[in-house]
Amino acid sequence: MEISFLGKQALVTGAGKGGNNPQRTGVDGNTGMQSGFSSVFMRKLSLIPVFLITLSHHYHQDCPAIIPVCVDLADWAATEAALKDVGPIDLLVNNAACTKLQPFLEVTPDQFDLLFNVNVKAVLHVSQMVAGGMKTRGSGGSIVNVSSQASQRALRDHTVYCTTKGALDMLTKVMALELGPHQIRVNSVNPTVVMTKMGRLGWSNPEKAQTMKSRIPLGRFAEEEDVVNSILFLLSEKSSMINGVALPVDGGHLAC
Ligand code: NAP
Repeated sequence: MEISFLGKQALVTGAGKGGNNPQRTGVDGNTGMQSGFSSVFMRKLSLIPVFLITLSHHYHQDCPAIIPVCVDLADWAATEAALKDVGPIDLLVNNAACTKLQPFLEVTPDQFDLLFNVNVKAVLHVSQMVAGGMKTRGSGGSIVNVSSQASQRALRDHTVYCTTKGALDMLTKVMALELGPHQIRVNSVNPTVVMTKMGRLGWSNPEKAQTMKSRIPLGRFAEEEDVVNSILFLLSEKSSMINGVALPVDGGHLAC
């Protein structure tokens, strides 16, 4: 299946992992970017071709096809300022998110606020700005929110994370409802565990990982490519009648 984004401009949040950061692991040999599905995604998109902008904590140092915009997405005003000059966007991937493991009885207000700010409020804000431009130009567009199986399955020690992803799924539906008439499609992908930095935080314990894998009919975690290919499909014209869905990329976990 051939997908073309020729002449399109894409904005991806949370994909700015510079390879020069010594604290980061899994650096890709070709691009210097850290492995993880955001960087796999950027790599694939930069080959398609499409004009690419990232909005993240860190600058891409090593991939000239990508324009980095460095911002803390938890900061509403800074995000607004950062987005002012990025120009027209046709494709948006709300990928950035954070998590912290806390048992329910130990959840702290600062973590609650941080996770909701980044995982939900920033998605709303970035999408408002991007979709506002799409509506004004009458160009239509496609937005993909990176949610999780955690939106629909309770996961121990993931109280706030699960709750943010549940909120994100509903935000996706309301956006699809209100933006659809402007030919702006909004969908989410809902992956199972992927062993990125975030995946390793929750699932490095082999016993815990095995329990989770045993609930996935395909018997394995997702690879970055699995998620990236689903996002590319939802961004593309190949999914032109798909709007408002939460697409599991989970080997059947949510279905069973
Ligand atoms: P990751 O390796 O931790 O990457 C998250 C990205 O978000 C990083 O680039 C991070 O930038 C950025 N980010 C976080 N807070 C930010 C902020 N305040 N401002 C700007 N950028 C910020 O996690 P990942 O696994 O690639 O996750 C990508 C998406 O997949 C997330 O939405 C996550 O919820 C979802 N997901 C992950 C899994 C999994 O098992 N890994 C499963 C299902 C869904 P810095 O590194 O510079 O902080």
